Amino acid sequence: MKTIITTTPDQTMALGQKLGAALALEQIFFSIALAGDLGAGKTCFVQGLARGLGVDQRYYITSPTFNIINEYPAAGRRLLHLDLYRLGESDELAYLGLEELQKDDTVAAVEWPGLLEETGFKFNLHLKFQFDADFNRIISFLPSSQLHTDLLDGLFSKS
Ligand code: ADP
Ligand code: MG
Repeated sequence: MKTIITTTPDQTMALGQKLGAALALEQIFFSIALAGDLGAGKTCFVQGLARGLGVDQRYYITSPTFNIINEYPAAGRRLLHLDLYRLGESDELAYLGLEELQKDDTVAAVEWPGLLEETGFKFNLHLKFQFDADFNRIISFLPSSQLHTDLLDGLFSKS
């Protein structure tokens, strides 16, 4: 596990952007779970992720809390941004057609991933967002395989 503390929104976004830039070079379905309380910086991170993936800056990335899922095209890839906060139970996931979403060109970033995980869905990377005593954000990365550990090592070794 790797942990980074960000002290400003820009830093949270920049971290997401680095991950997005690394993923822009891959051609494999990649799923990211973003866990943490409201206001902890999950959407802010996804805004950076989008920028790193090359999503056009005219798209304003907001929390898809009310529509559950937003889709953004990026060069050669697409970003799916899900927010399952308002999902009542995992049964409702069937309506999202997740099987269909798992294409090689897709990066899926999922806020409030709990219900999805209960169905056995496996994320490639788990991020946990916490506040410290000064309201900085503590962001922890838990990759799920060696492949993605290598990817993260790349992220953290360069500045
Ligand atoms: P979430 O999606 O987890 O509910 P948001 O991404 O909407 O949270 O972030 C809530 C607020 O926190 C935003 O205004 C964002 O700019 C801000 N923020 C993000 N990172 C930091 C940080 N390191 N320090 C202070 N504020 C931050
Ligand atoms: Mg959010």
